[in-house]
Amino acid sequence: MTTHEVQTGEEWTKPLPKPDFVNAEYWQAAADGRLLIQECPSCGHRQWYPRALCTACAADTEWLECSGRGTVHTFTVIRQFGMKPFRDALPYVIAMIDLEEGPRIMGDIPDGDVDAVTIGMPVEVFFTKAADDIGIPRWRPATE
Ligand SMILES: [Zn+2]
Repeated sequence: MTTHEVQTGEEWTKPLPKPDFVNAEYWQAAADGRLLIQECPSCGHRQWYPRALCTACAADTEWLECSGRGTVHTFTVIRQFGMKPFRDALPYVIAMIDLEEGPRIMGDIPDGDVDAVTIGMPVEVFFTKAADDIGIPRWRPATE
């Protein structure tokens, strides 16, 4: 089991996901510092975000715990956003991350120098606890 840092220091003021029967385990795992994707026991397909069935063969899926490591596939720097609370975070990076396990996941790279982010950069996950049962996966430059 690989657990990663879960930051709990500040109140989450951005919109919250609404956990349902498909994704509640995903959000709870993130609140506990674990990143999950889905893997199909029938055909081996892996997918993110959580869905009710395998998108390749429609079988039921199983959860696969990820290493939390990936590389930046692409990204954009958000420099203008007029609405709170997002304007307080400017500038920030929204990136597509290629996980070691295969699927591509979207998330922010909230800390550090936005001009230092590059395509192909190794990153690692951390989480912000947004509610008791919801963690938000986020990314930062890999330390090793
Ligand atoms: Zn499948």
